[in-house]
Amino acid sequence: METLETKAYGTESADAPIQDMNIKRRTVLENDVEIEILYCGICHSDLHALHNDWGATVYPIVPGHEIVGKVTKIGEKVSKFKIGDLAAIGCIVDSCGHCTQCNHGEEQFCEEGWTLVFNAPDKHIGGVTYGGFSQTIVCDADYVLKMPTFDDLAAAAPLLCAGITVYSPLKHWQVGPGKKVGIVGIGGLGHMAVKIAKAMGAHVTVFTTSQDKMDDAKRLGADEAVLSKDPEQMKAQSGFNMVLDTVSAKHDVNAYLNVLAVDGSLVLVGLPNEPLEVGAFNVVNGRKSFSGSNIGGIAETQEMLEFCKTHNITADIELINTSEINEALDRLEKGDVKYRFVIDMNS
Ligand code: NAP
Ligand code: ZN
Repeated sequence: METLETKAYGTESADAPIQDMNIKRRTVLENDVEIEILYCGICHSDLHALHNDWGATVYPIVPGHEIVGKVTKIGEKVSKFKIGDLAAIGCIVDSCGHCTQCNHGEEQFCEEGWTLVFNAPDKHIGGVTYGGFSQTIVCDADYVLKMPTFDDLAAAAPLLCAGITVYSPLKHWQVGPGKKVGIVGIGGLGHMAVKIAKAMGAHVTVFTTSQDKMDDAKRLGADEAVLSKDPEQMKAQSGFNMVLDTVSAKHDVNAYLNVLAVDGSLVLVGLPNEPLEVGAFNVVNGRKSFSGSNIGGIAETQEMLEFCKTHNITADIELINTSEINEALDRLEKGDVKYRFVIDMNS
């Protein structure tokens, strides 16, 4: 298959810094679009993958899965886009398209296995897929989102992972008026969850380890904030219908099972690389659930983009140049970002 070279930013090994590299993209097939990438967010999953935290990274790796840009080419069968349209890509670039899960719009649970935008086997040109830390990308139009016109397009890029990853469980667990919701860990995902849960009409409490985020929680829209390191503040919490846990490292989840109401759910979206221990009494008492959620399907991602446009929701970002990616990754590792780095690909 014919390919074209494009500039990208990736690493050769777990401890090597991000460097410029040339990668190959397939030339557009009949149902493909080519996108010039304008902005790409940096998610903690990119950092986990770069460091091989989950043990499955293939090097060289080009991460990035919060991609927005402009359509520059379209295949002959594409009617969803025209050249010049704004478009976006999240985590999913392919799936079988015919299993029960795909038919329900839950490509993230495709029974034959979906294709992640980076570090997954590339069915077309071999090797692995390369993500959004690059100048262009080619993708089947069925997996490309239509991007509404946000005032700040860069700040909308994190919706493609952080946004959908929290929107999907908040909707699934029927968060809305009269529901008491906790958000644990106020990073990229957590700060989006506060905004989205509030827009859904819930009473929102932030659980953070950071004193400075306590003060920022109300500005983000939270009704209450709890310093999770303070046992007295934790003891005073109860009656949560759902707690959404976005923490990226090992931590004590029992503390959050304990604040749930009867039949409440603790829902994990954070992906620490070590197992988390659950005390039996913490779920048995109160018939509580400990569960998880993985991004969201393509149709739901489109729905989330429209929801965020309607409610004027974007991420709080620090826009960086391509030369600042390594520094941003170091700061993300230390939790020093409010609340998402986004790379300006034209810098
Ligand atoms: P992030 O911006 O780094 O935020 C993570 C937050 O977790 C931090 O801001 C911090 O919040 C808290 N935290 C970090 N280390 C902690 C520790 N040792 N103990 C307690 N709290 C700690 O990361 P993100 O991009 O939001 O991603 C969060 C996690 O979700 C990552 O593991 C990522 O891989 C995963 N993820 C999962 C999905 C999915 O589909 N399930 C999708 C995207 C990302 P405070 O300062 O407020 O305490
Ligand atoms: Zn992500």
